[in-house]
Amino acid sequence: MKIHEYQGKQLLADAGVRVPRGVVCKSADEVAAAYETLGGSIAVVKSQIHAGGRGKGRFKEFPEQPGVVLVKSAAEARENAERMLGQTLVTIQTGDEGKQVNTLFVEEGLQIARELYLGIVVDREAGGPVLMMSSEGGMEIEEVAANTPEKIFREPFDADYGLMPYQVRNLCFKLGFNAAQMKQAGKFLPQVCKFFADNDCSMAEVNPLVVTADDELVVLDAKIAFDDNALFRHKPLLELRDLSEEDAAEVRAGAAGLSYVNLDGNIGCLVNGAGLAMSTMDLIKLHGGEPANFLDVGGGANVDQVTEAFKIILSDSNVKAVLVNIFGGIMKCDTIVEALLTSYEKVGFTVPLVVRLEGTNVDKAREMLAASGRDIVSATDLTDAAKKVVGTLSA
Ligand code: ADP
Ligand code: MG
Repeated sequence: MKIHEYQGKQLLADAGVRVPRGVVCKSADEVAAAYETLGGSIAVVKSQIHAGGRGKGRFKEFPEQPGVVLVKSAAEARENAERMLGQTLVTIQTGDEGKQVNTLFVEEGLQIARELYLGIVVDREAGGPVLMMSSEGGMEIEEVAANTPEKIFREPFDADYGLMPYQVRNLCFKLGFNAAQMKQAGKFLPQVCKFFADNDCSMAEVNPLVVTADDELVVLDAKIAFDDNALFRHKPLLELRDLSEEDAAEVRAGAAGLSYVNLDGNIGCLVNGAGLAMSTMDLIKLHGGEPANFLDVGGGANVDQVTEAFKIILSDSNVKAVLVNIFGGIMKCDTIVEALLTSYEKVGFTVPLVVRLEGTNVDKAREMLAASGRDIVSATDLTDAAKKVVGTLSA
């Protein structure tokens, strides 16, 4: 689960690190008022969307308008807000369709001496979190990683013990910090690492982390994501979820207990088990097709779940055929066919449906399918199923 910059900054501030003063706004009036509240000198108006690259991003409706803008008067703050609120911001991370900006965050403008990069991710190779820092802050870190990887300094740390003082010193020397900045980092870096571990984050990125003219470390941007599988133990974080930022079909699937990921192809897939779903997608591709989604109905698919799964698959207008691939292990194949036929009626299929079943009571299940009189193509094995579903597209 991703959250907005202003929410991430609030959490980081609660964890003890310094963030600029800011006000969350939903209207141009609020933005103008926030400018005054913040002291009426330099302020920054920032679009709140679940994507980075906002500073360089531009609005579809106003191609000159950046997603992050510095303002020097209440009138200027208001004018910018009017061009941002309700409009569509396109950045390198949003894709061409962009994202609608519904919230602005107005912040005090800081005197920046240096922009650094700080990121924490879970490194599967190290088997734990790793803190990464670079003096190349404020810009696209992907480019630094690709062209000059030696400029990114890494310190894997233990989630329980946190970042060790020697690791802080390592980073400070490499970044060329002076004594005052080192003292700051001695508090700041372990605090951010502890925040990451305590909240089961999957990513925490501060780009830029700034060093101010008076040697303070301040979080200027915050991109934070939490591990969905750990959210059950962080109930208060769930309130920060912004469903308008998430894929509508994926939200709907989540509510029905289905694992669904929307993809670009045109063959809808309904499968039980994540591993089988992955191999099904591979086979479709092997035989020249493109999967429209990943969908795992889990171990105990019932009529309601299968119906909802079909509805979600068919709500994607790209879907031109559907492949159901079920292995009846704990679930019996005939039970699945029963659910399938009931759902088929309820949903009202308009595209070809290919079904491959294997496992307990498979013969009985195939007979039921054949006897149903429905226009359902039965497949004998995985390859047959993939060929048949791809074949329906060229037919
Ligand atoms: P994004 O990464 O989405 O482009 P940032 O929050 O990093 O958005 O802002 C882009 C740039 O705007 C920063 O690199 C920084 O130079 C400037 N900036 C952002 N917030 C402030 C602020 N409070 N004071 C001064 N400059 C800021
Ligand atoms: Mg940034």
